[in-house]
Amino acid sequence: MPAEQTAVAVQADRDYILQTYVKPEFVIERGEGVYLYDTEGRRYLDFVSGIAVNALGYGDPEVTRAIAEQAAKLIHVSNLYHTAPAGELARLLVESSPAFDRVFFGNSGAEVIEGAIKFARRYARDRFGEGKTTIVAFDGSFHGRTMGAVAITAREKYREPFMPVMPGVRFATYNDPASLAAAMGDDVCAVVIEPVQGEGGLRVATEAFLRAARELCDRYGALLVLDEIQCGMGRTGTLWAHEPSGVRPDILTVAKPLAGGLPIGAVLMSQAVADTIHVGDHGTTFGGNPLATAVGTVVFRRISDPAFLAHVRQVSSYLDESLQDLAADLPGTVLELRGRGLMRGLRIAGSAGAVREALQRQGLLVATAGEDVLRLLPPLTIQAAHVDESLAALRQVLR
Ligand SMILES: *Cc1c(COP(=O)(O)O)cnc(C)c1O
Repeated sequence: MPAEQTAVAVQADRDYILQTYVKPEFVIERGEGVYLYDTEGRRYLDFVSGIAVNALGYGDPEVTRAIAEQAAKLIHVSNLYHTAPAGELARLLVESSPAFDRVFFGNSGAEVIEGAIKFARRYARDRFGEGKTTIVAFDGSFHGRTMGAVAITAREKYREPFMPVMPGVRFATYNDPASLAAAMGDDVCAVVIEPVQGEGGLRVATEAFLRAARELCDRYGALLVLDEIQCGMGRTGTLWAHEPSGVRPDILTVAKPLAGGLPIGAVLMSQAVADTIHVGDHGTTFGGNPLATAVGTVVFRRISDPAFLAHVRQVSSYLDESLQDLAADLPGTVLELRGRGLMRGLRIAGSAGAVREALQRQGLLVATAGEDVLRLLPPLTIQAAHVDESLAALRQVLR
């Protein structure tokens, strides 16, 4: 594409799109494997993956074929009718863990967080009567931008300008069982935890914390809701991020990577929760449409394959060793390594935004989490050579 057309595309965004994001000067045209290409032909190693969405990278032949074949057959008919792909994906999700018996499909992370909040309140009202409506969330949390999701999101900046958001929320300290115990009460219907925090800075929930949360939820008749919208689906080396803890959630939300880049979300729940939700209690026009769920079936099968998950763990441990070496070599610059698997954070001295821009010029795309954390979310299909390439750019810029 000629340079003038790149300028036109950038200007159209600036002139016509609501400016809620700051974007760099280039225009991305296509992707291939783990690389993106802009309209000027420059190549970028993509350690963002559309914010943990493109787990299989770009141009995956199975994903593209599933999209083409399903689009030719049927894209949408609404939830007024049965279609085969939704039931098939739901079956795969339910069979992934003994915790889950039922699935509700939506179209985004925030939509399924809203669903989880509604289901928790419906369950509590059904089982315990009125007044059990409080949700406990944590510092550093991020659950989305809708009025319920933003109410359980910690950062004031996301909430304050839109007050009043959904009432009935208490915040406790992440990874602090005593703080959670103090926040509990008979009015609590749900505790919502990200097993690995995303936007909030890549902190990892300890197994002790997750177990304490499970015990406190049981004691108070509250539901344990795990938000795996970013950390789920293989990103941390197991299918679900909470798996190593052995804790069984009542509800789990999944979204970002589930349909290979098509919008989708899902609320996975136990039969006890499902028993309290009835026809007409909740709904969605697009959720569970045949296109998104057909592709979701392909993506889920690929990622849940034990050999695929073994690859993620192997390349994760290589990334971890490489980051440890980097941190050891640059102790004044890389202050702390966070995260797990292929969801990693580097807390650095100085501005993460400025480093992100410098890395972009070196051909490496990374995200940030807050002011001082670089966030690495590569496609799960990266190989050791891509780790080396990313580390070379990080060394060059952080040195
Ligand atoms: C991205 C995200 C959400 C919100 O998802 P959207 O699709 O942007 O609405 C919720 N929870 C977590 C943990 C996320 O990372």
